[in-house]
Amino acid sequence: MQAKIENARALFDAIGNELLKEPDILPLLNQYREAVNESWQAMDENGVVTECTDCAVNDGGSCCGKGIEEKFDSVLLLINLLMGADIPLKRQDPTGCWFLGEKGCQLLARHVICINYMCRRLYDRLSEQNIHAVQQAMGKETDLLFMLEQRIKSWLQVKGF
Ligand code: SF4
Repeated sequence: MQAKIENARALFDAIGNELLKEPDILPLLNQYREAVNESWQAMDENGVVTECTDCAVNDGGSCCGKGIEEKFDSVLLLINLLMGADIPLKRQDPTGCWFLGEKGCQLLARHVICINYMCRRLYDRLSEQNIHAVQQAMGKETDLLFMLEQRIKSWLQVKGF
């Protein structure tokens, strides 16, 4: 994990400003940031945040297990840095994901696996309408993330990274 984070930081230092000057990347990044905020709003308004907090506080649950961080590549970490996220340099919870902090995920751009995961408890306790509203917001978030990742990857390729 350390190597991927260092690679993302090196890319950010080397080409972060240049990337943000690309006419299509900053607007896409802003659209994606907005979609991330809308997802969190949808999760809040539709009961996901309440259920997840109750599960974590009262039932000791956590979906953010050790090893999920391995799904991340340097480009997704670079997107986090471009968005201003503070990527932790070490794991805080020995049984949890590298990016899990005391108040939850410390990243802004999460992996599709993290975005899409809805556990049995959520399906059992939320209405179909609530689930649908959350999934719709998540779909927009994952679509924009995919577009942003592809755009940055092709930019890096053209530039020889
Ligand atoms: S949501 Fe964040 S802390 Fe949880 S598994 Fe995903 S990256 Fe890790």
